[in-house]
Amino acid sequence: MAPSATHPPSIDTIARALAVQSTLPHSLLVDCARRAVTQAPSDAMSTAQKLTNDLEIALLTEVVNATGVLLHTNLGRAPQSVVGSGRPTNLEFDLASGERGSRQTSVSKLISNLTGAEAAIVVNNNAAAVMLVLAALASDRDVAVSRGESVEIGGGFRIPDVMEQSGARLVDVGTTNRTRLKDYSKAIESRRNDVALTLKVHPSNFAIQGFTHTTSVAELATLSVPVIADIGSGLLDNTCPWLHGYLDQTPTWLTDEPAARQAISDGAALVMFSGDKLLGGPQCGIIAGRADLVQTCASHPLMRALRPGGHTLLMLQSVLLSYCARTVCIDVPFWQMVVTPVGSLESRAAEIIRQSGTGSVVALESLIGAGSAPGSTVPSVGIALTGDHRAALRAHDIAVISRTVNNTTYLDLRSVAPQDDAIVVAALTALC
Ligand SMILES: *Cc1c(COP(=O)(O)O)cnc(C)c1O
Repeated sequence: MAPSATHPPSIDTIARALAVQSTLPHSLLVDCARRAVTQAPSDAMSTAQKLTNDLEIALLTEVVNATGVLLHTNLGRAPQSVVGSGRPTNLEFDLASGERGSRQTSVSKLISNLTGAEAAIVVNNNAAAVMLVLAALASDRDVAVSRGESVEIGGGFRIPDVMEQSGARLVDVGTTNRTRLKDYSKAIESRRNDVALTLKVHPSNFAIQGFTHTTSVAELATLSVPVIADIGSGLLDNTCPWLHGYLDQTPTWLTDEPAARQAISDGAALVMFSGDKLLGGPQCGIIAGRADLVQTCASHPLMRALRPGGHTLLMLQSVLLSYCARTVCIDVPFWQMVVTPVGSLESRAAEIIRQSGTGSVVALESLIGAGSAPGSTVPSVGIALTGDHRAALRAHDIAVISRTVNNTTYLDLRSVAPQDDAIVVAALTALC
């Protein structure tokens, strides 16, 4: 049916024409057609096409991360292997007794084993973890924070704002560059019993250099109130026993990252950290430490709003079991990326270039990302192409995300899983 100037094609005709190209459900195509006829009656077909494309490109889809940023915030931080068969799990069912159980039991036991914490609970992200701890332990009370640690992490996480939302009162201590133990103890004494906690925050994504002094968790633990630590990055243990046999020494970019096990043994009453940063797990936030304080958090009304789903807990459990088995370098994608030798990246780059007939091997520097280890890089290898091919690579069936510097496009192979090299070959071949 040919569209006429006076009568736009029927909605049904447009929707059927869209269905030739698009796999979107019919009801969505009808919706695009209807909106196109209303918005641009004289140009309904091409407007409907555009609306359909806009919708398709907005859907969540798998991509190949060739940016060299290992934990890419825009690509969901730590990549996950999918676990689960689709069957239900014993999420809140105790298989021993046949009675109702807690969804937190399994991961709490594993986190305790890995960090030395008495107990742990999991919430939706680290922002929620910090918020819950403050609300449960310091609502209407004061919390002492160094002026140098009253930070914004990105994505709207700002310590003063989280504090306000939790109902706790922020007490600034020390100065931006130097905060001593005496600054905290003075705040605690002058406010008598109002200070409930001291909060230590890892300023993940920036560093203050020069004339500086910070007070350690070990020093804060000597004071009369509990110290809680937002360590952010989620490193479980700074001796990284899971790297033994894979790397000769702990990578230098990890030296300044606080770790859960050491913070707890230094005296932190609770530590809070993200699941999808250096831990390499799904998006979640973990609260670990003293059993009585963890229990107070678990029974706070906010907990019900912040509890993670069963799929998250299953993925986290799988990652934690890999830490216990010391197999993270084999089965956790983030740590696989970290330990891949440069030589194997070189061979993969050469093979991709041979198969696709384009590009050249180039030495690169990967970034950890997600605000972890700011400024540090990991030696890497990738493929360089003359010109800016980012958009064409994104338009591939499975989008390949690259970066361009000075009119050269770089695909860093450290952030690409070896099983995705074939996708890179196909995307590069399609460029020629
Ligand atoms: C990343 C980070 C957060 C926020 O964690 P999310 O899991 O993204 O909510 C909070 N504090 C610190 C120190 C961080 O590094």
